[in-house]
Amino acid sequence: MLFTKSQQEKIGTLETPFYYYDLALLDDTLKQAKAAADKRDFHVHYALKANFNDRVLETIQRRGLGADCVSGNEVQKAIDSGFSADKITFAGVGKSDKEIRTALAHGIFAFNVESIQEMEVIDALAAEAGVIANVSLRINPNVDAHTHHYITTGLDENKFGVPTSELEKAAAVIRQAAHVELMGLHFHVGSQITDMNVFKSLCVKVNEWKNWFEERGTTIRVLNVGGGLGVDYQHPDENPIPDFEAYFDIFDKFLERTSQQEVHFELGRALVAQCGSLLSKVLYTKSGIKKHFLVLDAGMTELMRPALYQAYHKMERVGDTSETLLNYDVVGPICESSDCFGKEVPLPVSKRGDLLAIRTAGAYGEVMASRYNLRDEIRYVYNDTL
Ligand SMILES: *Cc1c(COP(=O)(O)O)cnc(C)c1O
Repeated sequence: MLFTKSQQEKIGTLETPFYYYDLALLDDTLKQAKAAADKRDFHVHYALKANFNDRVLETIQRRGLGADCVSGNEVQKAIDSGFSADKITFAGVGKSDKEIRTALAHGIFAFNVESIQEMEVIDALAAEAGVIANVSLRINPNVDAHTHHYITTGLDENKFGVPTSELEKAAAVIRQAAHVELMGLHFHVGSQITDMNVFKSLCVKVNEWKNWFEERGTTIRVLNVGGGLGVDYQHPDENPIPDFEAYFDIFDKFLERTSQQEVHFELGRALVAQCGSLLSKVLYTKSGIKKHFLVLDAGMTELMRPALYQAYHKMERVGDTSETLLNYDVVGPICESSDCFGKEVPLPVSKRGDLLAIRTAGAYGEVMASRYNLRDEIRYVYNDTL
């Protein structure tokens, strides 16, 4: 169970919907990830886009992780949250001039460059600022992440990274660029990856392309293999912390590197997904001829993943429950048919006012909240304020 009796009583008095963050679980997760990485001399950057709630960031920063950003504002947020600039990476297919200037001004660890044209723009803006920009080239390695097609990024047909067919040209542009220093290679093949063979295949590709550059006389100091490690959405209580040992072990075994080469990771979901839940009350119950509906006070405006990628989130009743289960279609109040958290979900027979926890919502939840339908600003509480 997610909450103690006294917490349940307190929660019952709070206005819903709201996010609940268990910062103690987050810290345990970070400790395990950090220990497994440190043991192998691996560097971990936290992907801010998964969750940039202030206390979540503060907890992560305190554990000494770096930051992985995908916008100028995220770079600024990471700096403001205490992440040191020399541990910040900046990725994204569409970095604006303003965003590049922001990152240059802070002297970040590396730009993960996604196209030849972007390389030329960074070179020009770095020249203007009188600095040298450290860059990693994001290679699209054509690895199938075996995940939902909306969150796979490493196939030839995806918009991310430089296709391998253009690497010859990219290498030539880098040699010409006086204000760009190639420090490494970057890969990120998708998200919510649970098949460890995907990471093995990635290692094979990384080795291949690292060798390709080294044969051409280019020193590769940094191998950044991105993020994507998945979490157990089905069993949040049984598997609250991903198996970081097994994950890092794959890279330790299959990645070829010298003692001069650093290995970097960019984990988002695996670090923050399980520490967050969305709490929501049943507003109305409705029964059709064959269907039973629960209409919640939370919708796609608070948690968009089900509507956006048909994502599954475990739902459970908070507090006293009847033994009798009924299959419900659990929907939100937003005027969109896709505003549905799950169909035919077995839940205890429910009534107006009952509280539900929508689990594993710490990643890509609060950050995607919107004001559509002029909804309230998102609310949140932490375990230590309950
Ligand atoms: C989103 C993203 C990540 C983090 O992905 P997770 O699946 O949350 O681990 C890492 N690197 C890049 C470049 C990203 O865009």
